[in-house]
Amino acid sequence: RYYSEYIRSVIRTVPDWPEQGVMFRDVTTLFKDKKAFRYLIDAFVQRYYDHGIDAVAGVDARGFILGAPIAYELNTSFIPVRKKGKLPFDTVEESYELEYGSATVELHTDALSKGQRVLLIDDLIATGGTMLAAAKLIQRLGADVVEAAAIIDLPDLGGSAKLKAQGIEVYSICQFD
Ligand code: 5GP
Repeated sequence: RYYSEYIRSVIRTVPDWPEQGVMFRDVTTLFKDKKAFRYLIDAFVQRYYDHGIDAVAGVDARGFILGAPIAYELNTSFIPVRKKGKLPFDTVEESYELEYGSATVELHTDALSKGQRVLLIDDLIATGGTMLAAAKLIQRLGADVVEAAAIIDLPDLGGSAKLKAQGIEVYSICQFD
């Protein structure tokens, strides 16, 4: 589809960042491009408008940039999945191995209620650790992850396959090797 090719074309690749050998896919150039940003948000909104979504959960921090306009357009709640130590109220937490190190994400215990249908969103799926941890938090609150969506999937790193193997549906706009 034209929109996904256009979106893919404005993602900048920064070699050897944050460390030697990593090809970092930089989405700031996509967010900066007003046409690409609109295509991107519209693509997610069109995909999910009839999925009965109750809440969009965005992963700290680029998932917030995507999740907020999508939640606004879908007329749903927006729920931040945050890095450890940022949320002030009672939380549930999950630790996981990241592509570059390890991390912990948190969700407020009252962020979601049982049976709510949640769209989980982040910018990129690499090893899938971040999305899987976020999905587990959502499920621990009794809510359902309708789909884990990202702009970019790196299928060679196996994250999207891992998520699917755990029963989580995955959607991405474009892929890079
Ligand atoms: P994973 O947990 O799937 O291994 O890594 C995905 C997480 O790391 C996402 O939150 C994503 O923002 C970040 N990440 C890892 N590699 C990249 C990259 O090349 N580009 C961007 N934009 N984010 C990345």
